[in-house]
Amino acid sequence: MPHNESHTVALFENEGMDSPVSVLKRVYGYPAFRGKQAAVIDRVVSGGDAVVLFPTGAGKSLCFQIPALCRGGVGVVVSPLIALMRDQVEALKQLGVRAAALNSSLSREEFIEVRRAIARGELDLLYVTPERIVTPAFKETIGNAKISLFAIDEAHCVSQWGHDFRPEYRELGRLVEEYPGVPRMALTATADPHTREDIIDKLQLHSAEVFTTSFDRPNIAYEIVERDQPRQQLLRFLSRHKGSSGIVYCLSRAKVEDTAEWLNTQGINALGYHAGMERAVRDANQDAFLKEEDLCLVATVAFGMGIDKPNVRYVAHLDLPGSVEAYYQETGRAGRDGLPSDVWMAYGMADVIQRGRMIDEGSSGNDIKRVERAKLNALLAICETAGCRRQAILKHFGEAHGGQCGNCDTCLKPVETWDGTEAAIKALAAVYRTGERFGTGHLIDVLLGNENDKTSRFGHIDMPVFGAGKELASKTWQSVYRQLLAAGLVSVDHSAFGALKLEPEARSVFKREREVHFRKDRPTTGKASRSSSVSSANAKAGLEGADMELFQALRARRMEIAKDLGVPPYVVFPDTTLVAFATERPSDEEEMLDISGVGQSKLERYGEAFLEVILAHSR
Ligand code: ADP
Ligand code: ZN
Repeated sequence: MPHNESHTVALFENEGMDSPVSVLKRVYGYPAFRGKQAAVIDRVVSGGDAVVLFPTGAGKSLCFQIPALCRGGVGVVVSPLIALMRDQVEALKQLGVRAAALNSSLSREEFIEVRRAIARGELDLLYVTPERIVTPAFKETIGNAKISLFAIDEAHCVSQWGHDFRPEYRELGRLVEEYPGVPRMALTATADPHTREDIIDKLQLHSAEVFTTSFDRPNIAYEIVERDQPRQQLLRFLSRHKGSSGIVYCLSRAKVEDTAEWLNTQGINALGYHAGMERAVRDANQDAFLKEEDLCLVATVAFGMGIDKPNVRYVAHLDLPGSVEAYYQETGRAGRDGLPSDVWMAYGMADVIQRGRMIDEGSSGNDIKRVERAKLNALLAICETAGCRRQAILKHFGEAHGGQCGNCDTCLKPVETWDGTEAAIKALAAVYRTGERFGTGHLIDVLLGNENDKTSRFGHIDMPVFGAGKELASKTWQSVYRQLLAAGLVSVDHSAFGALKLEPEARSVFKREREVHFRKDRPTTGKASRSSSVSSANAKAGLEGADMELFQALRARRMEIAKDLGVPPYVVFPDTTLVAFATERPSDEEEMLDISGVGQSKLERYGEAFLEVILAHSR
């Protein structure tokens, strides 16, 4: 089986195969490649290996689907979740691509059918789980068929540094010996240096070309607020997103259930998802999320990997994630289609304490725990920054950004800062004088001079710092402590129930060798908190009046078709295509083909149905 064709152009010309760009147009209906897609595809079509590190929504799928179509034979895609293969396969079928998934849910007959298609060269793409692909049974299934490539999706699962470690991924390094000469690709949206090294190393991709692009997601608006009345705050955020779907992340299963239930009482169509739910219910809720257009899914982080619903319009966090990486991946599930999307998080000191405790009580070794603590602090620093959130996030990933993105809360409404040197000294003194044994609640009681059981019992009412901070409100002191923590001037001692301890750097503050500036927290109640207030994404896509009406009608038609077929609506056409239908109003099938997202197969399937709606609205 010679797999190493290396002269791309000659290959297309001599064997009458399609070039990548003609496949892009004919099958997907897209006019041009984005970013480095073309470079990746050229590399793989000509037989080379590739590591593809693009952010969510950049279009990684095309990077393996098109080479598989161009090279001939079957492209094998390793994907971690069976539940999601089905939708990917369905989406490919809609495009007229011959795709199948090999997994335990297949009946004997279906399995035989798939095997026959492979043997006859009638399958373009085959989705497989990592545990199955390394078995002798898989080798048998493939038989003598030509494999066009291996694509290892969600490749960060190979790394223990990542958050989705899957031991089976380690075995995938063996593919190179078992199937020599077949190009291999690893793709992921998580690419901190550790994970990247692990991918190359563990998957034996030393000779692969590494493709990276900016990790910025310009269509995502970031907003992080101090938690005050979380439910009301959440409700206000959700009220900006009526009629669209999104995810609300919570840390615990109980909170998922309570929040989902409560949202329903508030008139929001919400379902829950967590690993402790009965399998059937969980799957049904996931399916509903994929298929419905105005559903709020309240979930733990068990939900999300591999979800490629393109029109997730918002992601909200009611609890702080464990790291910037996790935050970025979870928020990154919004706006895959490139349309404006909002992400929002409410957090407080309690999160920091809770997360810290989870790290301490976890099973990781001490080295890893240290890294985890550093990762948590990095996220806290982003929460507390007075500068552009996007700039701070990208900096964490080693990417320079000029700031002033104009699409995050701090840019849209710059936060004021204040000289907090005096306040910092008092706050640190309270920690020091009370013996570095107390959490913020007690320290604030001391600063405010609150006489209570605890302050009396420990004799703190007799100290000079008792009542020394009456000029500031309790909330301000909370903010001061969070910012001292983010600045590395204090740390949390999780073995002592969240007591604050001084860090060596605190000395320079005591000695007045440095000034400390704090961000002024915004009021969190009332209208004022709608700082970055972004209206619903549809409006942002620029649709108005008659166009908006047509868009809604097209959406309704799409829903009918999707329901009939039992597929998610975006599998029929993505929102971006409907928006283009509504604004450009193609009047025949030929004009329709010019619209991004309309390929040959979809035109044949749905062209007429949508044209009818457009014409009815254009008279
Ligand atoms: P990723 O896997 O990198 O998160 P996807 O492969 O799911 O991204 O692509 C995100 C969306 O962008 C999909 O709806 C896809 O069809 C679309 N897309 C990808 N490449 C292009 C392109 N060259 N032109 C237009 N749309 C594209
Ligand atoms: Zn910004």
